[in-house]
Parts: sequence; C-alpha cells; structure tokens
Amino acid sequence: MAILENRVIKNRINEVPRICDWRARSFAWDDVDTIVVHQTDSSCRDPEQQIIDTANYHISKGWCTIGYHIYIDQEGKIYQVNNLKDRGAHAGNDNDYSIGIVICGDHRLRDGDTNEKIIPVKQYKSLVWTIAHVQNLYPQFTKIVSHDVLSNDRTDPNLHMNDLISDVKKKRVMKLMVSWVLLGLLFGFIISIGRKILYY
Ligand SMILES: [Zn+2]
Repeated sequence: MAILENRVIKNRINEVPRICDWRARSFAWDDVDTIVVHQTDSSCRDPEQQIIDTANYHISKGWCTIGYHIYIDQEGKIYQVNNLKDRGAHAGNDNDYSIGIVICGDHRLRDGDTNEKIIPVKQYKSLVWTIAHVQNLYPQFTKIVSHDVLSNDRTDPNLHMNDLISDVKKKRVMKLMVSWVLLGLLFGFIISIGRKILYY
C-alpha cells in the first residue's frame, strides 16, 4: 500500500573512497537546520559507480570524500554517503549549518512542467520522502533551499522549490497520520488482549 511506503536507504558511507575525516562543523548539531537540494548535472547511467567517481573527483579538489550526504538516482534508490553530523562540502560557506541531498541528472527547469515531469516520478517521490524523513527524525531541519539560492553561479537542482516544499509538508502530515493510525491499532490490540485476560 502506497500510504505505508517505507523506503530503504542504502548505506554507502564506508564504501565511498575517503581519505580523511571531515573537519568539525562550527555549528552545534542542533543548529544545523538547512537541507540544500542539488542536482549532479550528469547522467545517471551507473549510480553506484558515479558515486565513487564523484567521491574521487571531490577528493581531487582537496576534500575528504564525496561532498554530499545523500544521493538519489533516477530509479528512486537512496544512498547515504556521509553521516549527517559530518560537515561535508556541497555549499561553500553554508556547509557548516547544512546537509546536502543530490539528485542525479542533467535536467533543466521548464516553467510549464511539474517537478514530476522534469525528473522521473520515482526519483521525485524518493526526494520528497527523504526530506520528510530527515525532518521527522531531526526537527531542527526547518529550512529546505535550492543550491542556486546560496550560490549565484548555480542553477541546480532545477526544480520548482515551492512545489517541492509543499509536497514535503504533505508527506510529513501523511507520515504522522499513518503513525497515529498504527498506534491506535496497537492500543486497540492491547486493549482487546487485556479484555481477554480479564474475561477468561
Ligand atoms: Zn549543487
């Protein structure tokens, strides 16, 4: 059932090339409040290999490993490539208080099209799910911004951000409702068991 969708986040943190540990953030974890959304500006042919290639490329720029925290391919597969608490390198001066989520692709923003037409539906749904998941786990992440807002020479992620933010809000409400329904069912079950114990 779509409403109960639970997605796997593939852990690639210990598998990507890595030559050092990120330096500490200059913000406390509770003050890390921003999710920056990126696009790779590249094809998505072999995501696992591309993650490794990107890590090697970022290492060649003097960074520890791939600069993002989470990578999402066009099939909607989600890969975590850095611990969220680590600083990363994806947004220049804004790395200290943010995490980076990147979708692979070389799409461009088209005004007449919805986000689900600009990128594959599976990929978009995973992006929405991932952001909602991070915000539900760590409520301090109150801000969702596009890379181009932070950096004048970027256009990524080339999505309609207001629509993305509103889709994430809807997803969070849905997840919350599902949790309450499940909790209600659990209590109902416990009460029915309790009654049986009392009446037998
Ligand atoms: Zn970017």
